[in-house]
Amino acid sequence: MQNKYGDCFYCGGIVEEKLMPREIRWADQLFIIENVPMGVCSQCGEKVIKPKVAKVIDQIIKEEREPTKTIQVPVYQYELNLAESAAELMPNSPAKKHVGLFGTTEYR
Ligand SMILES: [Zn+2]
Repeated sequence: MQNKYGDCFYCGGIVEEKLMPREIRWADQLFIIENVPMGVCSQCGEKVIKPKVAKVIDQIIKEEREPTKTIQVPVYQYELNLAESAAELMPNSPAKKHVGLFGTTEYR
């Protein structure tokens, strides 16, 4: 059953339901729940999770079920030095957008 979503809270775009992975940090551990139904804005990519979906996620984690699989997660530290060189690469144009791994990031 598909959940219904209103227009995007941020940009007014159309929000469509997709099955996406969701990361949760709980009790000092990182959990990944796959195939979570969530609304994704087709315009800005903002994600919305219904309260009942969030409840199911809580339940899955708190029940400490056997995971379907366990993956290793590399952990990095953010580097300020790199941020300075990245800033030099940014164009001076008013288009303040970066299309990268997280999708499109806008600078305000
Ligand atoms: Zn949006």
